[in-house]
Amino acid sequence: SIAGFEEIRAEEKSKRVGQVFSSVASSYDTMNDLMSGGLHRLWKDRLVTRLQPFAGMQHLDVAGGTGDVAFRVLGAMGEEQAREQEDSDAPNPVPLGQVHVCDINPDMLQAGQRKALQQHIGEGGGLSWVVGDAEQLPFQDNSMDAYTIAFGIRNVTNIDAALDEAFRVLKKGGAFHCLEFSQLALPGLRELYDAYSFRVIPQIGRVVANDEASYQYLVESIRRFPDQKTFASLIREAQFSGVSYENLSGGICAIHSGFKI
Ligand code: SAM
Repeated sequence: SIAGFEEIRAEEKSKRVGQVFSSVASSYDTMNDLMSGGLHRLWKDRLVTRLQPFAGMQHLDVAGGTGDVAFRVLGAMGEEQAREQEDSDAPNPVPLGQVHVCDINPDMLQAGQRKALQQHIGEGGGLSWVVGDAEQLPFQDNSMDAYTIAFGIRNVTNIDAALDEAFRVLKKGGAFHCLEFSQLALPGLRELYDAYSFRVIPQIGRVVANDEASYQYLVESIRRFPDQKTFASLIREAQFSGVSYENLSGGICAIHSGFKI
């Protein structure tokens, strides 16, 4: 049946995604810097600025990989905690809160844990690493103040299921922010961008990570992902309110936001 066919396709996709990220885990951070010319750092900074972390929050970073977003959120929470502590006359210390890094791939999480150790991040607590699927999150209903997913949702087999799960685990008033590659808003740049992504990125993958196929997959998955408006309507269909998006670097990426009210 057609349904059966789709099931096989879905299984193939998650197997493929699993292989890709196990294969790239050890070179992932270097490759990100090389392929984006360091821009991914600014995009992630922008995501955290939009999020506005606060002390004591429960934050969930899905498809958290090697921890880039989680480390930024935790750092911002620490700054807020210190600021509040300074202003506070209360006898009890201001709580830091918790960042939960969730990813389906244990190899990516392990690379993140190594990085945290090396950089002394999360030594005072506040960071937890959880193997889990965005489509079936191992967290309770209404338990999170905010949810982020960076360069993750296009790898998920069923985007609708992942959005429903984001909505389920968020508290009322909780925020959803998704950073993802998107469609260029400046059409004149498209040819250049296509040439770069289809020709240059797989070659960087071959030379640096000895893995052309995985980077070929990454480029193709970017092309297949819905454009800004279409993705915004999927987020609305998952019951989020106040849905908006912001283009970054001319639409190479976009941050989509929404709220559970
Ligand atoms: N968020 C990190 C960053 O921005 O550097 C990592 C992004 S990486 C391109 C994509 C991540 O999504 C991988 O770590 C992969 O294992 C994870 N992933 C893919 N499918 C997933 C799923 N269904 N549930 C959770 N994580 C998933």
